[in-house]
Amino acid sequence: MIPAQFDYVAPTSVADALAALAEAGDDAKVLAGGQSLLPILRMRLNAPEKIIDLGRIEELRGIREDGDSIVIGAMTTYADVLASDLVRENAGVLHDAVTEVADPQIRHRGTIGGALVHADPAGDVGAPILALDAVLTVTGPSSERTVPAAEFFKDLFETAVGDGELLTSIRIPKHAGWGSRYEKFVRVAHQWSIVAVAATVRVEGDTIAEAAIALTNMGSTPLRATAVEESLVGKPATDDAVREACAAAADGTNPPSDLNGDSDYRKHLATVLTRRAVLAAAGK
Ligand SMILES: Cc1cc2nc3c(=O)[nH]c(=O)nc-3n(C[C@H](O)[C@H](O)[C@H](O)COP(=O)(O)OP(=O)(O)OC[C@H]3O[C@@H](n4cnc5c(N)ncnc54)[C@H](O)[C@@H]3O)c2cc1C
Repeated sequence: MIPAQFDYVAPTSVADALAALAEAGDDAKVLAGGQSLLPILRMRLNAPEKIIDLGRIEELRGIREDGDSIVIGAMTTYADVLASDLVRENAGVLHDAVTEVADPQIRHRGTIGGALVHADPAGDVGAPILALDAVLTVTGPSSERTVPAAEFFKDLFETAVGDGELLTSIRIPKHAGWGSRYEKFVRVAHQWSIVAVAATVRVEGDTIAEAAIALTNMGSTPLRATAVEESLVGKPATDDAVREACAAAADGTNPPSDLNGDSDYRKHLATVLTRRAVLAAAGK
């Protein structure tokens, strides 16, 4: 199918994009890499009267260092995130997750900001952003606010980005020296996650000093496995100790049941994948 007819604008600044959004109101939709929005338009699940393409706004692209953080522009593509040494060294679990997103063509067009605002619970970048305690900048017509990742994901396909606002950047505290692993379980290559686990840990000697773990597709939003994190701290990075801590990975979750697996199967997967991810992140 081809999309319903729409007007198209391609502003070159955030200010102009926000003005276009304000003018069009509910009838507008923002276009980033188009990897989720274009299929939706083609299936006519949405028919906005105006498309505001962010692709020409240079200020929304790029990755930079800022003190103890790195800052990623919302329109930075997956491919650029993957190629970045700053991301690899300071946000390893995000790098690991992006290697698992779809295929090179989609990673060439899709953006980190588009993926986060789309907020598909099976999407691969939400969990690492949550585990890394990122802070997201949301810009509206008259002000800018920051939202911790823990408050960004509201529900299925719903985030803290309101009508007339844009996600403009993602700030990630540096995790240099932390080990990382994104364990994604799929039946066939390039599939969306059935379940995935983002784990990043800091090991001192043989002991886990800090741990941050988040789960993909175990509920309507990415979830932090706080019980596992608390249980891991101070434990030796051995198979037995990690296995015992990771038994709680699915506690408090409410994963979906579908053709790929029922809720109980996903809960079992979460414990197995969390153990694998933590051991790998700890270098075991
Ligand atoms: C075949 C296929 C396989 C895929 N497999 C995976 C996978 O394995 N893992 C995975 O994680 N993802 C997968 N994806 C989804 C992909 O990651 C998309 O790129 C991503 O979901 C959306 O990013 P985008 O830049 O293309 O955004 P778009 O599709 O352009 O936009 C998505 C939504 O976000 C809004 N939006 C975009 N940017 C902003 C902004 N800065 N501020 C406010 N609103 C904004 C848009 O209005 C739209 O509602 C797949 C997609 C396809 C087509």
